[in-house]
Amino acid sequence: MDIRAYAKINLILDVVRKRADGYHDLRMVMQMTGMYDLLRIEPKSEPGIELTTNLPYLPTDGRNLAVRAAGLLMETCGVTDGLSIRLHKFIPVAAGLAGGSSDAAAVLTGVNRVLRLGLSEEKLLKLGLSVGADVPFCLLGGTALAEGVGERLTPLPPLPNCSILLAKPPFGVSTKEIFQTLRADEIESHPDVDGMVTAIRRGDLPGILSRSANVLESVTLAKRPEIQELKDCIAAAGAETVLMSGSGPTVFGIFTDQKKALACRDELRTDHPEIHSFLTVPVRDGALSLGAAG
Ligand code: ATP
Repeated sequence: MDIRAYAKINLILDVVRKRADGYHDLRMVMQMTGMYDLLRIEPKSEPGIELTTNLPYLPTDGRNLAVRAAGLLMETCGVTDGLSIRLHKFIPVAAGLAGGSSDAAAVLTGVNRVLRLGLSEEKLLKLGLSVGADVPFCLLGGTALAEGVGERLTPLPPLPNCSILLAKPPFGVSTKEIFQTLRADEIESHPDVDGMVTAIRRGDLPGILSRSANVLESVTLAKRPEIQELKDCIAAAGAETVLMSGSGPTVFGIFTDQKKALACRDELRTDHPEIHSFLTVPVRDGALSLGAAG
C-alpha cells in the first residue's frame, strides 16, 4: 500500500504553562499542507520491520518514528509477521513541519489496513499519542485546534483558499532545545487563539491571518536571526502573513494572490538556492482518511 504523510504548519501557537512533568500545555491551530512524504508499506515473510529511506543520515531502527509506530502497533496486536516500509522523504527534517510524526501516523493507518488489524480510529489516536504529541493531529489532518500537549483535538472547518509558501533554511532546530530555553511564565502577550478559531469557523481569512502568531518564534529567532531576514523577504513579496512553523526553522507565508506566491518562490529559489522553497495549499486529509481510501 502507498500512503502519503503530509506536513503541518501552526497557524497560531501559544504556550499556556509549563507543567510539573516538564511538558508544556499548548493551544494551537494546526493546518495540513500539500507537502508530503511517500511511504510504501508491504507485508514480508521474514519477521521484523525493515525500513529503507532515501536519506542516508536518517536512522532506520527504532529511533525512526515510522519504525516505532509499526513496532508499537504490531506488539499491541500480537503480530509476528514481518513488514517492509519504504520511506521517501520530501518533508525537510527537523524543520517544524512534523515530518516524523506524520510518517508515524501514515504507518499506523497503513499497517492497520495492510495487515487487516481492524483497530478503531480511537485506538490509533491513542497509540499515536504514545509515539509523539503531533501524531494524533497527523492522523486527523485538515484544520484543528490542538490543546494539552497536542492530543486534545477539535476539528475545524477547512481554511479558505490560499497559497502557502514553505521556506526551510539550511539548518535544523531541535524542538526540545527551544522548549527548554522558553520561559513560559515570562510570555507577555498570549496570541488570540479563540479569536482565530472563531475566524476559521466564519471562513474569515483576513481575521485568521491577522491573528497568526507563534510564541516560540522569539526563542528560535534569538538563536537564528537569519530567520527574520527570510520572513522580511517573504513579507516584501506580498504575503499577507509570514510566520515560523512550530519550533522552526521553517517559515511559511500565506498569499491570497497565487501569482505573487509563485514569484516569491521563484525569487527565493534563484537568490537563495540553499533555502528549500516549496509552494503548496491547505489540505483536508490526514492519515486516517488516506488509510480509509487507499
Ligand atoms: P516537530 O514539528 O514535530 O517538532 P520536526 O519537523 O521539527 O517535528 P522531524 O523532521 O519530525 O522534526 O524530526 C526530528 C528528528 O526526529 C530528527 O532529528 C530525526 O533524526 C528524527 N526522526 C525520527 N524519525 C523520523 C522520520 N520518519 N522522519 C524525519 N525525522 C525522523
